[in-house]
Amino acid sequence: MISGFGRCILSTLTFTGLLLNGVANAHEVEGLRLWSGPESTRVVLDLSAPTPYRIFSLDNPYRVVIDLTDTRAAQATSLPGGRGFVVGVRTGVQPQGELRVVLDVNQRVNPQSFVLEPNDVYGHRLVIDLTPTDDAPVVKRAPRVDRTGGRAIVIAIDAGHGGDDPGATGSRGVHEKDVVLGIARSLTAEIEAQSGMKPVLVRDGDYYLPHRERMGRARRAEADLFVSIHADAFRDSRVRGATVYVLSEQGATDEAALRLAERENASDLIGGVSLADKDELLAMVLLDLSQSAAISASAAIGDRVIKRLGSVATIRKSQIQQAPFLVLKSPDIPSILIETAYISNPSEELALKTAGYQRSLARAIHDGIVDYFRDNPPADSYFALNPPPQRQSPVQHLISRGETLSGIAQHYNVSLPILKQVNSLSGDVIRIGQVLSIPAG
Ligand SMILES: [Zn+2]
Repeated sequence: MISGFGRCILSTLTFTGLLLNGVANAHEVEGLRLWSGPESTRVVLDLSAPTPYRIFSLDNPYRVVIDLTDTRAAQATSLPGGRGFVVGVRTGVQPQGELRVVLDVNQRVNPQSFVLEPNDVYGHRLVIDLTPTDDAPVVKRAPRVDRTGGRAIVIAIDAGHGGDDPGATGSRGVHEKDVVLGIARSLTAEIEAQSGMKPVLVRDGDYYLPHRERMGRARRAEADLFVSIHADAFRDSRVRGATVYVLSEQGATDEAALRLAERENASDLIGGVSLADKDELLAMVLLDLSQSAAISASAAIGDRVIKRLGSVATIRKSQIQQAPFLVLKSPDIPSILIETAYISNPSEELALKTAGYQRSLARAIHDGIVDYFRDNPPADSYFALNPPPQRQSPVQHLISRGETLSGIAQHYNVSLPILKQVNSLSGDVIRIGQVLSIPAG
């Protein structure tokens, strides 16, 4: 079954005649990498130059075939073993000078391909995403109900970047994609341990997800909040500290915020999402209608998170910043993006690598989120039905007939000596109508 053809990127018609004369192939496959996520497998071919190709899939056994025009495999190219849906990779040379790459897959998959221009890390690439052909049925989340009632507040936790998109990289080679995954996993554990909350970890591994897919997962999980975790980089290595962003519909708070948004958004070009969906325009219109309310909630949550982060980290900007991040564009889910630190700052790069600092950041983020939802619980939530105990004003006890000091101490579960001490009593004698202060047990 032919399920799709790649686009010709470069016209190489003139090569065809030459090939027959045994002239060296114009293109080379320099490497082949596999990344597997829970729902898709990504195959990346590193190419010496833009290369025309076509892709189709075959059954019996299931495989995906990529024919690359006028191409050979570089001698150093080693083929990876299986990963995700791919159980094996083979290559062979076709009579017309094409290099055929065969991906043996463990089920029928739908290959989607696109090419990428060189970036800081990689050269020309052909990327093939394999997803199962038969769409898995959407499983409706059963809300986690605590014994005491009320649904759990769902927090979607997104670790930025991943897979062939490393994000920012520090001078010691620490990748943003790795440290933010560590922080995201810690935050997931913190939320999991919180009564009345439930985490959904959007990316749990070293693979790339397009921005819209990240939001899509949050929406499918019916998240109450989407938190995207990043680490920033700047050419001045002295710059340090955390910043919390929310979406702005127009422009950015300042120039730096705009440049950051451009950089973060650019990873979707790496992810190669097709923005050609027909309903994109309509979706954008609908999105803008419901976005304003979500933005004000986002700002309030971000505010709480900054306050808590201030106790464990340097804060770069004490105010919420606004910038047009793609990953925050969800119509109805309040969303924040946290640049936890500057990976370009050597001491923050070192700290970010440690599990201890990742956990401190995660705890602070957790605490900020809880602060917000305690004050603004969704009506049907556990938080709404189980408000935290109020700070109690001292209990006063009016003594009535027949009561004894030891009986009162027992009743309030306080020790007799403390009860006497608090009320400046030397003996055990009490009077009817006397008022005792009862200390907290
Ligand atoms: Zn980032």
